[in-house]
Amino acid sequence: MKRTKIVATLGPASSTAAVLEEMIKAGMDVCRINFSHGAYDNVLSQINTIRELNKKLGTHTAILADLQGPKLRIGTVENNSVELISGKEIYITTTECTGTAERVYITYPQFPKDVKAGENILIDDGKLLLKVVETNGKDEVKAIVMHGGILSSKKGVNLPNTKISLPCLTEKDIKDLEFALTQKVDWIGLSFVRSAADIIELKYLIQNFDHTVKTKVVAKIEKPEAILDIDNIIKETDAIMVARGDLGVEVPMQEVPVIQKMLVRKCLEASKPVIIATQMMESMITNISPSRAEVNDVANSVMDGADAVMLSGETSVGNHPAKVVEAMTKIIEHVESKVDIYNRDNAAPEVDLHNNRFISDSICYTAAKMAQRTKASAIVTMSHSGYTAFKLASHRPKANIYVFTDNYSILTTLNLVWGVHGFFYDKNISTDHTIADIKLILKNKGCVKQNDLIINIASTPISEKGKSNMIKLSAIE
Ligand code: PEP
Repeated sequence: MKRTKIVATLGPASSTAAVLEEMIKAGMDVCRINFSHGAYDNVLSQINTIRELNKKLGTHTAILADLQGPKLRIGTVENNSVELISGKEIYITTTECTGTAERVYITYPQFPKDVKAGENILIDDGKLLLKVVETNGKDEVKAIVMHGGILSSKKGVNLPNTKISLPCLTEKDIKDLEFALTQKVDWIGLSFVRSAADIIELKYLIQNFDHTVKTKVVAKIEKPEAILDIDNIIKETDAIMVARGDLGVEVPMQEVPVIQKMLVRKCLEASKPVIIATQMMESMITNISPSRAEVNDVANSVMDGADAVMLSGETSVGNHPAKVVEAMTKIIEHVESKVDIYNRDNAAPEVDLHNNRFISDSICYTAAKMAQRTKASAIVTMSHSGYTAFKLASHRPKANIYVFTDNYSILTTLNLVWGVHGFFYDKNISTDHTIADIKLILKNKGCVKQNDLIINIASTPISEKGKSNMIKLSAIE
């Protein structure tokens, strides 16, 4: 069983139950639904198919609804192709029009107010570069083409130097959020996060939508402002995504690998899952095997300590959606079997009886250390909120992490988290009974065998469903 999880973006190439089943069997753990594309009836049918497959296969494939955020775009252009010539002037207007080489429309009404002369305008993932000459502060900006090329319709725009006054959640995002929450998705991705305040706002909306919905938040890190506020963002969010596509346009591309490593380290220290995204196996959109550099990229992300690696176009529009998941699984399994990525030396929790997580944090820390010393084959936690699973995973034990819970949605939510495998369990007799029962279940499922050591962590008395406060080491009979 691999520990590092795979997030795959759904799209036309992966919309049928047959393909999704192949992808799950090949190692997909989380389906990402990109709200930049896709009508609600399609999304609904994808969600229903995943949930039916989970029932059929006994899996817990999670659903991540990724909100578009304030993505800026150029409008349509003549014949879907105009050539921008380096050195020529071009007007960018907020009045809708069909674009030409002299004038194009941008979907960002405050653009002329927000930009300043000298700022860069990057179009189509930075393939085209313009520089602002002047703005009339109202509806038009004059720019010069620094690096030209072919511009086609609706290409994305990045403004790395501009302080964008758009809210993090657009009207479309709020509608998409309500739809996703009605469907009780596991995770919401928020694009173009600029500060921790964006996460606080999203969490407030989720909480107020329905306090029984426990949907968690992935902060997509793709803006330089987010890097500056990263400690606060990590504190507020439940997970992050290193969204290298936009990040590599918004910050100088050579900075991305160092930022990736910094983000993974900070997330591990904070016990928050981290996803590495974009262009991981890009060449497999058409080819049947990845490039050697892509194999290295996935392998290095696993070695860095990522919880999950992500596929975008490879599975949404690519020719081999299941094959690419299979190839990724092979890379992950090889690294995990050959490289010592385990037993991170995370600092022990500080003794602080005023911190209501101190006891459970200490239990998780000690369980991971005990597993390392005794070579236990599994750490088992009983969890209602999933908290201990996040915490245990961040210590990266070599022992498998099994979570038993009576909270079904936690099983799918935790499917994103490194090394965690979940089981539904709702008997509530006594701690002794539950531990004996769970050992039998794991043995019958082939997860452990006779004479394996296992570590149980739980809360006693079990009926109170409190925070983990006990640890037990025993052998499988
Ligand atoms: C990215 O920019 O890397 C990314 C994941 O964002 P998008 O939602 O545009 O795919």
